[in-house]
This record gives sequence, C-alpha cells and structure tokens, in this order.
Amino acid sequence: MKQPEEIVNDQRAFFLNGNTFDYSTRKEQLKKLKQMLKNYETEIYQALKIDLNKSSHETLTTELGFLYTEIDFAIRNLADWMEPNKAAAPMTHKGTKNYIMKEPYGVTLIISPWNYPLQLALAPAIGALAAGNCVVIKPSEYAKATSLILEEMIRNTYDPSLITVVTGDKEVVQDLLKQRFDYIFFTGSSEVGKIIMREASNHLTPVTLELGGKSPVIVDEDANVGLAAKRIIWGKFTNAGQTCVAPDYLYVHDKVKFKLLKAMKKQVKSLYGKQPLKNGDYTHIINQKHFDRLKQFLTNGTILHGGESDSELLKIEPTILDKISWKDPVMQEEIFGPILPVLTFNHIEDAVITLKNHEKPLALYYFGENEKTQQQVMEYLSFGGGSINDTFYHLANPYLPFGGVGASGMGTYHGKYSFDTFSHHKSILKQTTKFDLPFRYPGGKLSQSVV
Ligand code: NAD
Repeated sequence: MKQPEEIVNDQRAFFLNGNTFDYSTRKEQLKKLKQMLKNYETEIYQALKIDLNKSSHETLTTELGFLYTEIDFAIRNLADWMEPNKAAAPMTHKGTKNYIMKEPYGVTLIISPWNYPLQLALAPAIGALAAGNCVVIKPSEYAKATSLILEEMIRNTYDPSLITVVTGDKEVVQDLLKQRFDYIFFTGSSEVGKIIMREASNHLTPVTLELGGKSPVIVDEDANVGLAAKRIIWGKFTNAGQTCVAPDYLYVHDKVKFKLLKAMKKQVKSLYGKQPLKNGDYTHIINQKHFDRLKQFLTNGTILHGGESDSELLKIEPTILDKISWKDPVMQEEIFGPILPVLTFNHIEDAVITLKNHEKPLALYYFGENEKTQQQVMEYLSFGGGSINDTFYHLANPYLPFGGVGASGMGTYHGKYSFDTFSHHKSILKQTTKFDLPFRYPGGKLSQSVV
C-alpha cells in the first residue's frame, strides 16, 4: 500500500497536469460514480446489513438513493455551476468588467463517520469531483464492511491519482494530516473536529466541519399531534437514532404531552412492530462500546415505552424516557441512539429562552400551526438547519445548504453548495485600456459622483 506522502504527491502531480479541469472530464467522472454504485448495489446492501443491519428500504432511501439524486443533480447543473459569475461594479470602477471564477482547490481529504458510511463518504466526493479536485477518502473503521467495499469499488473504477480510499483508524488520519492537503472535509464528532482543525492549521488548509450536537424537536400546543408523532418517530428511529440530525430530545408543551406520547407509542408499533428487537429490518447499534454507552441512559427518568435490549444483536428498542431533567446524563451529550428523552414547557417563549442558552445544534424542528410563532422560533434560535412541522426531511432537498453552526460545525454542502465548498471563488477585474480615470492617483480629485 502506498504511503500518505506518495498518495498526495501523485494526486498533486495529476492535478497540476490539468487532468481534472475540463467540463467533460468532470462529467465523465460523475457518470462513472453512478455506474460504479449501480454495479456494486448487491455488495453495498450486504455491507450495510453487516455493519448496521440496515434494511434495504433504508439503504435505498438514505444511502444509495440520496447519492443517485446528488450525482444526477450535479451532472445536470455542472456546466452552469462552472460558468464564471458576472459581478456588478461601483462608479469608481467605470470601464471594468468583473467576474468570479470557480477554481478547484487541488488535493482534498474527506474523513467520514460510520453512521451513514457510504453516503457520508461519497456525498462530499461528488462535490469535490464536480469542482475538479483530486480526492482521498478516509472512511470510518467502525463500518468495516462498507469501508472495504468502498475501497474496492473506487480502486476498480478510478485512477488513484484522481480518487482513492485509505482505510484505517485514527492513526491513519493522523498520518494523512501530516501531509499538505488543499481542502479538508470532515464529518464526525465535535471533539475530533477540533483535532482536525488544529492539524489543518499547520498547512493553513481550509476545512469544512460537519459535526453533531443535541438537536431538539419542539412540539407546541397547537401542533397537528398525529402527524407530529409519526414524523418524530420516523426522524428519531431511522437508523436506530444514529443520525446526526435525528431529534435528540423532545421538548413538548405540557398541554399536548399526553396526547402526543400516546400517538408516538402507537407510531412506534406501527413502524417497527410490537417486538422491534425481533424485527429483522430494525437497525442495530454500531458496536459494543456504543451499545454499553446507550444502555446507561436507560436508567434516566422513567421508561415510558421500549427499554428492552439484546446485547447479542446489539439492538435497543425504540425507547421514550419520561420524567427527565436537564441535569440527567442523557441530556449532557449527543445521544446518537434510539432513546428519546421528553421535557416539557408551558410557554413557547420560555422554551426558546431555555434553548438559547444551549450550544447551537445541527438541527431544530418545530411543530405548531401558528405562522407567526413558527417564524419567531426560526428567527430567535440559532441552529444549522431544520424544519417546521417535520424532522430531518430538509437535508434531502439539494437546493438547501446543509451544515452546522457554532459547536455543530462550519461550512455547508449538498447540491450546488458542495460544488461551491470545494471551489475557490476567484475575483477578477478586467480593466479597460481605452481611458484611465485620474481620481485614484496622487493629486486626483474625487467628484461627488464617484464616491
Ligand atoms: P468520530 O469523530 O469519532 O470519527 C469520525 C472520523 O474521524 C472517523 O473516520 C475516524 O477514524 C476519525 N477519527 C476518530 N478519532 C480521531 C482522532 N483522534 N484523530 C483523527 N481522526 C479521528 O465520529 P463517529 O463516531 O464516526 O460519528 C459520530 C459523530 O459524527 C456524531 O457526533 C454525529 O453527530 C457526527 N455526524 C455528523 C454529521 C453531519 O453531517 N454533521 C453526519 C454524521 C455524523
């Protein structure tokens, strides 16, 4: 296997030779990516089943389907995205033409986590390739089967000087980070995000950090409770809660709490069956370490629903915890599993003030019918992105940027935002030689009209 230094040197030479620049090459690489996924679909379904027991429905909707949409979207819009954008100019710049070029950074590094191990490794790669970069992907060592198939697919499809996969653990990341990359795109925990940013600073490499946090779902007194219940249960228990934008906890108006929880219990049974641990399509926890971490939360508050687990299958039932306080351990860290604590409020204003005093989450969801309140909640609180009357559906719209703010990350991607993230926006002013306005030179007079 090649050493990081050699990998990066090969990619940089390939990049500097101009091999990634033109439109038709980039489009070809994106088409190849889609074909690669099609060719390996069976192996991909198998790998995700091994790593997380993902059902074929979830693999299709949250991994493959998501990637196909992103690739098609990029292919359809690439020519437009690559076009320089015209820019206006003030009177002081009379005679000039101004535009913004989109330039690839060069050699990029993508580091991804285990929870959507295919999607989170390849979705940024779509943007990187579309923007004309070379790519090194370091997938998570926890989703071993998917990482191996990812490495095999890419090796059999691409010149490693354009895109390659390096498997391994954090030591491999540390070795990679000694190299000079031109862009680093990291998805993972806030803790590791800090390490990545620190290391990137050694080479002044720009970073995107897609991190996590505790994303609340708020249900107000005038919410459509039946729909809220269904959409919350879907958002929380998809992938057994191992989703960066899953509602971490429920914050519900006291008046509708009883009705909502009743409807939610019904929805759990309807979507996952009466015995979710025996449901062959219910995702398991990634490994023993996370299973043990999550099980400790089951002693917090009281179990309103679920609470059973199977250590052999690494499965924990969809669980709702009542009588939770902000001080409980389950409220001190991102849960990242199928456990939903419930907290209540009496006035939405108080709820907003409470949330304002917490770290900015990656997502926030508000259920309620009053449009003024919807708008106020969206305006007053800071979070990466979110939905009104839904949970994480916003991330599947390629027209919306996806990313965090504050502790939940920096930078965005998806659709055109991925292309922009992996492009340097280069400003160009083209000056006229037909005349030369004198006012900027020493002794020149500034007339009212130009200042
Ligand atoms: P993680 O930070 O532990 O690992 C992510 C990647 O970093 C892996 O490839 C891993 O090998 C590497 N890594 C781990 N420790 C490292 C270290 N000390 N030095 C260098 N590299 C290291 O995250 P995870 O457990 O794989 O994923 C869960 C986290 O990711 C959660 O916090 C979740 O919210 C977040 N996440 C965010 C998004 C998003 O889009 N914002 C998406 C999925 C997951």
